[in-house]
Amino acid sequence: MLFNDIDFDVYFKKYPDAKGYFGKYGGSYIPPELQAAMDEITEAYQTICKSRKFIAELRRIRKEFQGRPTPISHLARLSDKIGNGVQLYAKREDLNHTGAHKLNHCMGEVLLAKYMGKKKVIAETGAGQHGVALATAAAYFGLECDVYMGAVDVKKQAPNVARMKILGTRVVEVTDGLQTLKEAVDAAFTAYCKEYKDAIYCIGSVVGPHPFPMMVRDFQSVVGIEAREQFVEMTGELPDAVVACVGGGSNAMGLFSGFLDDPVDIYGVEPLGRGPKLGDHAASLTYGEEGVMHGFNSIMLKDENGEPAPVYSVASGLDYPSSGPEHAFLRDLGRVKYDVVDDDETIDAFFELSRMEGIIPAIESSHAVAYGLKLAKTMGKGSILINLSGRGDKVIDYIIEKYGIR
Ligand SMILES: *Cc1c(COP(=O)(O)O)cnc(C)c1O
Repeated sequence: MLFNDIDFDVYFKKYPDAKGYFGKYGGSYIPPELQAAMDEITEAYQTICKSRKFIAELRRIRKEFQGRPTPISHLARLSDKIGNGVQLYAKREDLNHTGAHKLNHCMGEVLLAKYMGKKKVIAETGAGQHGVALATAAAYFGLECDVYMGAVDVKKQAPNVARMKILGTRVVEVTDGLQTLKEAVDAAFTAYCKEYKDAIYCIGSVVGPHPFPMMVRDFQSVVGIEAREQFVEMTGELPDAVVACVGGGSNAMGLFSGFLDDPVDIYGVEPLGRGPKLGDHAASLTYGEEGVMHGFNSIMLKDENGEPAPVYSVASGLDYPSSGPEHAFLRDLGRVKYDVVDDDETIDAFFELSRMEGIIPAIESSHAVAYGLKLAKTMGKGSILINLSGRGDKVIDYIIEKYGIR
C-alpha cells in the first residue's frame, strides 16, 4: 500500500536503515565505548535472530511458556451499550504470561543474550514492570539479572521489587539525585560499560539507541501478526481501526506493525494526565519537539533548559518524556494518528470494561479502551480492535484508594 510516497509493502525492509534511522528519527547517540557493545548486539541480532533455530525456539517458548497466541475477545456487551452498530474487540495481552505484553520482547532479548554466550542481563526500571518481565525471562533461561531502580521507586513499587527478588533478580537501589528513573538509567549504563563483555543491556520499549527500537518492535510484532490473522478468521474482514496506548511505544508498535500495509486507520493514544500544562501529562508526540535523549533522536517533552521535562500520568507505565523514533516517523508521515485521553476518561474506561466485560485492564491499557469508546461513538459503523496491553489487578489498591468505586 502506498501512503504519502512510502511503500508499506516493503516498509520493514527499509525502516530502520542500517544506522537505525526511521527518516530523521532514531540512530545511536551514545559514548564510543558503548557503541562497540551496541554494534555487537546489532550484529548478533541480524545473524542469530534470523536463524531458523532461534525462531523455532522462540516460537516454542511462546506457545509452551507464555501461553500464546493470546485470544481476541469480542466486547459484545460494550458494543451493544454504545448501540450504533460499531463492534469493539480486544487483543488480550493481559493473558500473556506475567499479565502484559512486555514479556514478548524480554523473552526475545534474553534468548538472544543466551545465544551470544552472555551470563547476565542488565536493565533499569521505573515502575518495575520491565524489571519483573526481565526477571521472569532471566529466571526461565537461567541468566543472572541486575535491575537498577531509584530508591524512591523501590519504596513506591514494593510489590514489584518483591516479585523481582522472588524471581532471583538483584535489585540495585540507586541513591543519586532524585532517586528515580533517570538516575537508574545512568547507573545501569555505567554498570553496563564495565560489564558488557559478560552482559547485555535489555531495554524495555521501542526506545534507546539502535538496534533496540527495531529489535523490540520485531519481537512485539507477534501481537500484530496474530491479531490480523485472528481478526480476519473471526469476522471475515479487517478491522476499520486499531488502537493502542503509547508510552515508549512497544505494545503499540507490536499491534500497528501487523496493519501498516492495510487500509486500516491506526491510532496511538497518549496520556493527557491532569491536562495540557507541561508537567501534568506525558503526551510527548502531541506536545513535544525534536530532541535527543537516552541515546536516540525522537520527539520529546523538554523543560526550559532543553532537558527531558518532568511528566505525569495515572499510569506509571506511560510516564516517559519521549516515545520511540518509529512513532515520531509514523506521526510525521500521517500513517498513524496520535491523540490523547486524560486520567479521568481513563478511570471511567477502567470501570466500564471491568463491569461490562469481566476484564480488569491495566491503567495503561485503559487509555486505549477510553479512546476506543470515544472513537466508536463518532464512527456510526464498522469495527475497532483495541490492544489490551496488560491486566489491572496489580494496581487495584491504588485505584480504589484514589478514586473509590465508580
Ligand atoms: C509498560 C506498559 C505499557 C507502556 O509501554 P509501551 O512500551 O508503550 O507499550 C503499556 N501497557 C502496559 C500494561 C505496560 O505494562
